[in-house]
Amino acid sequence: THFGFKTVNKEDKEDMVKEVFDSVSSKYDLMNDVMSMGIHRLWKDELMNTLNPTPGSHLLDVAGGTGDVSFRFLDRIKNSPNYFPNIASSSTLKSSSLPSSATVYDINQSMLNEGKKRGLTMGYTDLSDPSIDWVQGNSENLPFKDETFNCYTVSFGIRNCTNIDQVLREAHRVLKKGGRFLCLEFTQVPNPLLRYAYDTYSFNVIPVMGQLITGDHDSYKYLVESIRQFPNQDKFAQMITDAGFKQVTYKNLTFGVVAIHSGFKL
Ligand code: SAM
Repeated sequence: THFGFKTVNKEDKEDMVKEVFDSVSSKYDLMNDVMSMGIHRLWKDELMNTLNPTPGSHLLDVAGGTGDVSFRFLDRIKNSPNYFPNIASSSTLKSSSLPSSATVYDINQSMLNEGKKRGLTMGYTDLSDPSIDWVQGNSENLPFKDETFNCYTVSFGIRNCTNIDQVLREAHRVLKKGGRFLCLEFTQVPNPLLRYAYDTYSFNVIPVMGQLITGDHDSYKYLVESIRQFPNQDKFAQMITDAGFKQVTYKNLTFGVVAIHSGFKL
């Protein structure tokens, strides 16, 4: 099958990934809920618990898709006790807090467009505080200056990249000193029995559900196969360290179906 990407070249893989997300963008949020039985929401909440952002933070959410992680980040800022929006009113006695922002960065414009629509319904725009903007591009090559952001997240996005080492080097470059890298990604279930159950579910059930909901069996088959190809937790932690990050750690969620990797630029 042409989805066995060990045999495809770089351009083919990029085209294929683009095609996969083009074909699923409008049903992407629904599919996430169906495939993970809603658990992806808890995983993303846990990612935000780990980051625990405060006003004045600037997030780069790479492979941010329709903005799930960024919206959580903005909601946290808004609910923070130190958040005072910048409202020009003479009756406002409290000084405003530092502005905060999230930049959603994704290779696929149709995913960003879906997200932008969601953002408007939630009141988040490039002019709101906290603000959100949507930038299209490849995670291997970021159009941002060195030391721009305090936080970098990549949620279910690094697995699809052709050159993961390059993605990590770019993450390190755009983070400020003291900034944090966090990655949420499908990983390897360490327990063999649980792994067997999980493999059976993902190989047999997910492509069929993908077919039923989006009419696209192969895209979901590709997504499942790409999980198998991704390095295990320890190997990925080593890659993050090799890119220059310090204090690299990870925690498994849901028996290691996914993990959150963390590193700091010091
Ligand atoms: N982060 C979002 C979430 O957790 O819901 C979206 C994850 S979605 C599974 C993966 C995203 O990665 C897609 O939106 C896809 O377009 C994007 N993507 C794939 N390869 C990319 C690349 N090389 N550079 C930037 N984005 C990429």
